[in-house]
Amino acid sequence: MPFVIAAPCVADYSCVEVCPVNCISPRPDQPGFEKTEQLYINPSLCIHCEACVEACPVGAIFEAKALPKKWKDYARINAEYFERVEE
Ligand code: SF4
Ligand code: SF4
Repeated sequence: MPFVIAAPCVADYSCVEVCPVNCISPRPDQPGFEKTEQLYINPSLCIHCEACVEACPVGAIFEAKALPKKWKDYARINAEYFERVEE
């Protein structure tokens, strides 16, 4: 199960710095970096290492199956971000 970034994200990029496979976007060198309100994890690339979970200062990252009910939609929201940027 991939990890998912949910609503509390404040886009501080702490998780980007620790992710070993660069599957969190947008990064500073990518389109949309300036305007984004949150970051997203690519479910196809995440290797479930959990490094990002400890790095996040606001507890915004959850395993997809453990997402709090009110943020269940964020598994889809994270995946759809990459469908949009890869079009
Ligand atoms: S669980 Fe690991 S691979 Fe997946 S987004 Fe977090 S740091 Fe990256
Ligand atoms: S560390 Fe947490 S708050 Fe910061 S960008 Fe990643 S998910 Fe968002």
